[in-house]
Amino acid sequence: MTRFTARIARTKPAATFAMAARARALRAAGRDVISLSIGEPDLPTPPHVIEAAYRASLDGQTRYPPIAGTETLREAVARKFTRDQKLPVGPKNVLITNGGKQAIFDAVMAVVEPDDEVVIPAPCWAGYIQVVEFAGGAPVFVPCPVASGFRLDATALEAVITPRTKLLLLNYPNNPSGAVADAAMLDAIAGVLRRHPDIVVISDDIYEHLIFDGDYRTLAAAVPDLADRVLTMSGVSKSYAMTGWRLGFCTGPADWLAAMTLVQGTATAGVSTISQAAAVAALDGNQDLLAERRDIYRRRRDLVLAALSGTPGLDCPKPEGAFYAFPSIAGLIGRTTPTGRHLATDDDVAEALLEEALVATVPGSAFAMPGHIRLSTAAADAALAEACARIVKFCRAIR
Ligand code: PMP
Repeated sequence: MTRFTARIARTKPAATFAMAARARALRAAGRDVISLSIGEPDLPTPPHVIEAAYRASLDGQTRYPPIAGTETLREAVARKFTRDQKLPVGPKNVLITNGGKQAIFDAVMAVVEPDDEVVIPAPCWAGYIQVVEFAGGAPVFVPCPVASGFRLDATALEAVITPRTKLLLLNYPNNPSGAVADAAMLDAIAGVLRRHPDIVVISDDIYEHLIFDGDYRTLAAAVPDLADRVLTMSGVSKSYAMTGWRLGFCTGPADWLAAMTLVQGTATAGVSTISQAAAVAALDGNQDLLAERRDIYRRRRDLVLAALSGTPGLDCPKPEGAFYAFPSIAGLIGRTTPTGRHLATDDDVAEALLEEALVATVPGSAFAMPGHIRLSTAAADAALAEACARIVKFCRAIR
């Protein structure tokens, strides 16, 4: 028997992908499941991006790239960070990664020692918990309840900081809650960070272009005196509907980027040259599609909110950004479905929704906030409407 590492023993598969796989399996078995489990745009990758990838392949851009990314893409990303983030950086301050996910992996592996504490505002993307545990670090959650708009409260942040705190992970617009950063929150966080000069920050801005209410703000630009310990990351997956191209990027302090390049060089030797050429076309091409697509997601958010409003047992706050709804299902806990299934936890609710209503969602506990479920609103209008109708019918039948 092969003995695997402790690292493998403590790493769990992402609940989002696990739920998506179950939905696929049920569909393959002939059941009409609607999957709102995974955070993936249903819209197509823009044609000019696909053409750029095809041309790059024919042009012979088919060799190993530099580990940190091609010069052309690093320049395009530097322009993008200057344009969208108001972070005037050069190509040497940019690292290209296999999806935003690898930027976070590289960054965490570079700074987190075993038993270091990593502060994560909750609810949070499930991927953070996975990577921190993989690195041997300890996730420390700061609850950000719906009453505070799911935003991080500086006093609550200060309260969890210890001498072992190494890293703070910020994600606005937030997956799963949709919360958007405001100036007051970033100022208050900055006040705490100034008192703790050894803490570094990852700002995960992957949903930067998906804001319906409020404006986009990012920590390193809002609070320039902290920029030398903030890694700002984003990518093309969500904004340009390019999840399968696996392309992310980041900027930050030179020494952190150098350490991350070492991690990446150890793991993957850089990112597909074809995907990098495609990303140049996405970032340098017409940006009007970002607002057009944001408006589609806003309409879908409104559709879901309207469809779920007034549903017994369910309370759905209005997401300000990203493409998820994160209703509380507290009113369903302790109740029973018509088939006699007892609902003790959000896991039970997600399980019952899948089995009895044929809608795949993800329980809030996967995002460190039990008592909720997450629905992805990045699905076609008709699928969303049908899924909501099934959820409402399910909730009305609960005893
Ligand atoms: N950060 C957050 C908050 C996410 O929701 C996701 C994708 N679900 C990622 C990072 C990773 O995205 P990708 O690797 O596709 O760029």
